[in-house]
Amino acid sequence: MTEQKITIADIEDAKAQIAPHVLRTPLVPAYPLSDATGAEVRLKLELLQPTGAFKLRGATNAIQKLNAADRAKGVVTCSTGNHGRGVAFAAKQLGVRAVICMSELVPQVKIDGIKRFGGEVRIAGKSQDDAEREALRLMEEEGLVYISPFDHPAVIAGQGTIGLEILEDWADVDTVVVPLSGGGLLAGIAAAIKARKPDTRLVGVTMDRGPAMVESLKAGHPVDVVEEPTLADSLGGGIGLDNDHTFTMIRDLVDETCLVSEAQIAAAMRALYRDQQLVAEGGAVVGVAALMAGKIAVKPQERVAVVISGRNVDMDIFTRIAGGEDVDLKQERKA
Ligand SMILES: *Cc1c(COP(=O)(O)O)cnc(C)c1O
Repeated sequence: MTEQKITIADIEDAKAQIAPHVLRTPLVPAYPLSDATGAEVRLKLELLQPTGAFKLRGATNAIQKLNAADRAKGVVTCSTGNHGRGVAFAAKQLGVRAVICMSELVPQVKIDGIKRFGGEVRIAGKSQDDAEREALRLMEEEGLVYISPFDHPAVIAGQGTIGLEILEDWADVDTVVVPLSGGGLLAGIAAAIKARKPDTRLVGVTMDRGPAMVESLKAGHPVDVVEEPTLADSLGGGIGLDNDHTFTMIRDLVDETCLVSEAQIAAAMRALYRDQQLVAEGGAVVGVAALMAGKIAVKPQERVAVVISGRNVDMDIFTRIAGGEDVDLKQERKA
């Protein structure tokens, strides 16, 4: 496929498109983290979105941009997590049918999470692959439009609106730290910020268990990684071997990437809860984890914005972590 460049105009357009449907989130000071690092740290609270994560922005923009015929047919995806919720919620807001395909093994809480936001759940087969096949079948036979979670120009532009908001609220920000998985979030934010304020440092952070984008950057092309149980479950999965957009955008626009451990993620969840009274999921706190662990070098008073991307966490696991336990899902899976 040809590479389509996502411009600042696309992101400005996305901002206008999604404004009525998506929360414009606050950028709040993080005093304890500022004291601990010597930097001036502020948190972009995407966890406040109605679906609990930023993915609503990209999903809303992608559905808004469909033509009338596609809107009439509806959309489909097979994510059971934050993307599925975002697509369900956005489609409902815009009066479009959304089918979320999942396997029989998906836990009831996830099914309820999608249904609550107005999505039509289609149970198909016993694995994620079966669910994907059903989504493909709906595309081919019923003409539903597949909405990709990250490698899609309108999704990337939607996530990029976060970058515009950070600059509106903090024009002289020095560094922006962003969780990284498939890279739609970071690619969009980087495209917005490098267009407006090119000297801003962009840092992507992910977990050391299966960091697909970081391994791909090292290899010079998209590669597969082995998926492992992690507290940052929303950062799991690959970037697609046929990646069209996010790999090149991250390679060309992002200054640094770094990895954090499970214990560092748990410590960051605990710190955000105790210091800021915030419940954030593991994948959302990797930026805070990297700063706390000294993995991102910061100068005194450096102005650092950190994106906190979501709050959809298993509360039984969360309360154990908040109570001081370094939960390791890999050990528990073995037990
Ligand atoms: C999807 C997701 C990410 C990563 O976004 P990508 O666009 O895949 O890089 C980060 N945090 C949360 C909470 C997410 O749901």
